Amino acid sequence: MKNNSLLSHRKEEPENGILYIVGTPIGNLNDISQRALNILNNVSIVACEDTRQTKKLMNKFNISNKLISFNKNNSSFKIPKLVKYLKEGKSIAIVSDAGMPGICDPGEDITRSLKNERIDTICIPGACAAITALVSSGLPSSSFVFEGFLPKKQIDREKILLEISKNEKTTIIYESPKRLKKLLKQLFEFCGGEREIMVARELTKKFEEHIGNNINDVIKFFQDKEIIGEITIVVKGIQKGDLNIDKLTIKKDLKDLTNAGLSLSAASKYLAKKNGIKKSEIYNMI
Ligand code: SAM
Repeated sequence: MKNNSLLSHRKEEPENGILYIVGTPIGNLNDISQRALNILNNVSIVACEDTRQTKKLMNKFNISNKLISFNKNNSSFKIPKLVKYLKEGKSIAIVSDAGMPGICDPGEDITRSLKNERIDTICIPGACAAITALVSSGLPSSSFVFEGFLPKKQIDREKILLEISKNEKTTIIYESPKRLKKLLKQLFEFCGGEREIMVARELTKKFEEHIGNNINDVIKFFQDKEIIGEITIVVKGIQKGDLNIDKLTIKKDLKDLTNAGLSLSAASKYLAKKNGIKKSEIYNMI
């Protein structure tokens, strides 16, 4: 991209033959930028995750433009069509239902395909739930890990949960309200109840809520409630040298080894050696 003159001498937007990845609001429609509105108004085609959703945004700002659907179910056959339009000199905007396309939303595949075709993509930045939650959490934000939605398959999910439990960086997770209680329970098992956390509900909307401070508190808060609305979770990283977490990791390893068929004694002996502690200390942990 560096040696591509298109990016160093920009003309008036939108330009022909360019794909614009346009960030849209995550709830509050007033979060749309002037630049995004100009692009949505003036590109040849707006490719949307769900045309009904984008129509609401367009109506609010009196924009009528050609909308086509572009989502994970049709992207494989829509991408070649969009590439053809771009090569013909049309300009295209990609939008998802909310937030930044490409962040747990369609957008990543087409950007990669266009790179291979040497066609330029320009991002018109907008709201992103992950960043909005991180910044409002008060947790360390200069270095962080974004996990998106955790995998559903247990073995993959536990691997990520273990990584989160050991990571010194803040982690951001997306979750559906239906599955939040299960996730909180798992975070408790892997990180312990004292780990700092913030659950952001309905960011930028009328009933926005930030629920903290630690995993114990948040579990208690949601205990007898039906959870509705959109949820993003921010988990503080482990403090350097936090022994409590080492214990949790050892307990988890012990569970894995015994589940795999090792006797408690053999698993404890192995873990004691691996961690440089006495076998009796492992027994004390359980
Ligand atoms: N592309 C979007 C972005 O940039 O944030 C994310 C799309 S992903 C399919 C949807 C998930 O984002 C939701 O399940 C929720 O975890 C999170 N999310 C979206 N809007 C939110 C909001 N207003 N408040 C809290 N979380 C939100």
